[in-house]
Amino acid sequence: MDFEALKRYYAELDRSLFLDGPEKALAGRDSPLPIGFGQTISQPSLVLEMTRLLAPEPDSRVLEVGTGSGYQTALLARFSDQVYTLERIPELSRKAEDRLTELGFTNIHYKIGDGSLGWPQEGPFDRIMVTAAAGRKPEQLLAQLALGGRIVIPVGPRYMQDLLVLSKDDKGRIMERKLGAVRFVEMVGPYGWGGEK
Ligand code: SAM
Repeated sequence: MDFEALKRYYAELDRSLFLDGPEKALAGRDSPLPIGFGQTISQPSLVLEMTRLLAPEPDSRVLEVGTGSGYQTALLARFSDQVYTLERIPELSRKAEDRLTELGFTNIHYKIGDGSLGWPQEGPFDRIMVTAAAGRKPEQLLAQLALGGRIVIPVGPRYMQDLLVLSKDDKGRIMERKLGAVRFVEMVGPYGWGGEK
């Protein structure tokens, strides 16, 4: 991936386009902000860092779990071939699709549903970006990762998670790197936190 081009696009992408109402005026803050339905647009510097860690290539097929506002989706779509993005909240998915279509993206595929199950009909994926926190590693996502592929995912309990980079080698073995502590909203469903408070 061309990291200098990523930094340039990050600097020019107007985050306010992915926000509504009074939140628009706060778009320049390096912090998560509410996008409705109890969800947040991620902190921009973390979006940049996670994209850098995922390092999609121009020919990559990328799966994204947690479309949210579509801000992260835009960075992924700019630097990969096709992006398949999953969101469980229909209103957020539709709004993101409208925004990203307006911005001219034609390589993004949208689906409403539980992203922890992945998108088996479209796999395997070269890269998988997960922007909601899982209580444990979702096996379906690992299964849908191509040989030589990479997942960036926050895994851990409610108040603090480890940002993991999981890589699959050419023999299908998974290697794990921990990149530090992050705090994301829950990946709702079988890989969420369940009854944990
Ligand atoms: N990357 C997004 C952005 O730039 O706006 C922020 C994503 S937000 C932190 C996490 C998103 O994951 C929320 O929109 C939430 O509804 C979604 N989500 C949570 N659990 C999910 C699941 N099981 N399947 C699909 N989406 C899920």
